[in-house]
Amino acid sequence: MEENCIFCKIANHEIPTDLVYEDDTVAAFKDLNPVAPVHILIVPKEHKLNLSQYKEQDEKLLGHMLVTAAHIARELGLEESGYRVITNAGPDAGQSVMHTHFHLLGGRKLSFDKQ
Ligand code: 5GP
Ligand code: ZN
Repeated sequence: MEENCIFCKIANHEIPTDLVYEDDTVAAFKDLNPVAPVHILIVPKEHKLNLSQYKEQDEKLLGHMLVTAAHIARELGLEESGYRVITNAGPDAGQSVMHTHFHLLGGRKLSFDKQ
């Protein structure tokens, strides 16, 4: 747990947040400023800056985060209409929260430069 990390605090229940999904290793919750009708963030409970910090031993966790995104998309009825899962790593990608997260976006047509 990283001090002053907002997503660590959410994932560890230090900030009360409605979690869309949770298990031992990941948590998912609604984005504060949604850019689509469905905008969920999927985060690992273990603090890491971004995708750049993951190694071979993390493949299971990374796979689990994507499977979780697919699971949430299914639960929210997005399978047929479609959805997008993305992660921003570093300044050029516009990463603004320094704790790894995958965005799950859906519920409208998504242009490619939007997120
Ligand atoms: P990034 O730009 O780093 O890929 O995405 C960070 C996302 O986190 C943004 O979409 C932003 O709206 C969201 N966000 C920032 N602070 C909070 C917060 O305190 N709670 C929630 N639920 N989302 C947040
Ligand atoms: Zn963190």
